[in-house]
Amino acid sequence: MTTDWRGRTGPIGMLTGAGISTDSGIPDFRGPKGVWTKDPIAELLSTYQNYVADPELRERSWIARRDNPARGAEPNAAHKALAELEHSGRAVRIITQNIDRLHQKGGSSPRKVIEIHGNMSDVVCVGCTYHSTMDATLERVAAGEADPPCPVCGGILKAATIMFGQKLDPKTLWQAEQVAENSAIFLAIGTSLGVQPAASLCEVAVGNGADLVIVNNEPTPYDHLATEVIRDPIGEAVPRIVADLIAAGTENGTSSESAR
Ligand code: ZN
Repeated sequence: MTTDWRGRTGPIGMLTGAGISTDSGIPDFRGPKGVWTKDPIAELLSTYQNYVADPELRERSWIARRDNPARGAEPNAAHKALAELEHSGRAVRIITQNIDRLHQKGGSSPRKVIEIHGNMSDVVCVGCTYHSTMDATLERVAAGEADPPCPVCGGILKAATIMFGQKLDPKTLWQAEQVAENSAIFLAIGTSLGVQPAASLCEVAVGNGADLVIVNNEPTPYDHLATEVIRDPIGEAVPRIVADLIAAGTENGTSSESAR
């Protein structure tokens, strides 16, 4: 068993996926209890071309957003542990595939979190640069606008998420690649690493000398590249890893050079 990576200094990059939020009551998308497995219409609603083409789908989509269990979700022990790691003074950046904002709610600084698939807390117009919050837009829905149009250009509004059929934002993706390139340790947490280009960030990190550590309950296509693969529940594994990293950081901290 390789544990040496825990003692490495330098920046820590992370890639987080749905698995880190299941303890917060947010269902995974494709698992047995997944949103799309139970409700195929939800996947249809997530496709950009269908969404812009069909007003009825948009009306259903606003209702789905209103009723989304993730809206009231609270951060769990893993989110809080990662925030604690940042506040311990380690250089930390989190790349997340999640749209639930739970890293920020858990205490991570917004500037440390890169949301490669966007977020569900904001609303954008597909035709202009208008943006608003989901809460404000859902108030319009509650007040009777079944498919509220953009107040600036009259265009279609949507959640600020990347839907199927939409490209990732190139600037956001570039930032994520920079994090992967510059990490000494790269943690992939709760992601099956099946979605590109997010998953290939693991390859980028390893190619640039990082120790890759995968925390996921199922095998991933990148396990063979990992220094360590951890199958324990995320709610236990992540706080333990963070405690080890903080302890190692204290040992390797400002006094280490002179003390030895
Ligand atoms: Zn607009």
